Amino acid sequence: MKALVLEEIRKPMTVREMPDPGCTPEGVIIRVEANGVCRSDWHAWMGDWDWLQVPLPHVLGHEFSGVIEETGSHVKHFKKGDRVIVPFTIGDGHCPYCQRGHHNVCENIQMPGFTSWGGFGKYTHVANADVNLTILPESIDFTEAAGMGCRFMTAFHGITAQAGVRAGEWVAVHGCGGVGLSVIQIATALGANVIAVDIDEEKLALARQLGAVAEINAKNESPAKVVKDLTKGGAHVSVDALGITQTCQASLLSLKKQGRGSCFS
Ligand SMILES: [Zn+2]
Ligand SMILES: [Zn+2]
Repeated sequence: MKALVLEEIRKPMTVREMPDPGCTPEGVIIRVEANGVCRSDWHAWMGDWDWLQVPLPHVLGHEFSGVIEETGSHVKHFKKGDRVIVPFTIGDGHCPYCQRGHHNVCENIQMPGFTSWGGFGKYTHVANADVNLTILPESIDFTEAAGMGCRFMTAFHGITAQAGVRAGEWVAVHGCGGVGLSVIQIATALGANVIAVDIDEEKLALARQLGAVAEINAKNESPAKVVKDLTKGGAHVSVDALGITQTCQASLLSLKKQGRGSCFS
């Protein structure tokens, strides 16, 4: 298959032929139709993480959607030709965390694009298909769906299951990248009032388009103080969608008494 290959950390990647992936009994082979580019790809490419070094040569890519090309002999719920979304964290389905619905912290977690070759190739293998894949309706195209298994899934779980955002609440979002902008869309759809914080006017403009009711440029003013003024006491929920010291502190200081926080980094 043709793939974009990481041969050496911090060096340009090359497009070349690589072996086709093989299928496991519980897995599927997916023909990749679209793949997002994530900050996590950058970190792996730059060798930033000592806790996760990809074996070289490697095919990155963990934000993909596509069509099932082949199913393993034990796969029951999917068949060749199905359009699917793949989460970037693949659970085994039977550890205590998976059984409570938290595949993202599975004891035997796999991450296509990191622990195995991912979506920057024409084909990729995904393990434990029945437990992890989601059918993609015809009404959503592959490009739109590509980021759903990473930034959107992360934001959705944080805002609904973890933070429990409700209509009418104030939600402050510190950092308007992929995760932050997804948080804004989801919290707005739930009826919350979102305050977007970033240092980039373009991102703040995008945040406004996606539903934010107020924007703060943290280069010019103290985000926590402005959030407290706008909300008359603080946000019900505050999200650090970047994970650096400044956003973490500003996020905590934006909260009202008994506020809830989420940190995605
Ligand atoms: Zn990602
Ligand atoms: Zn598990």
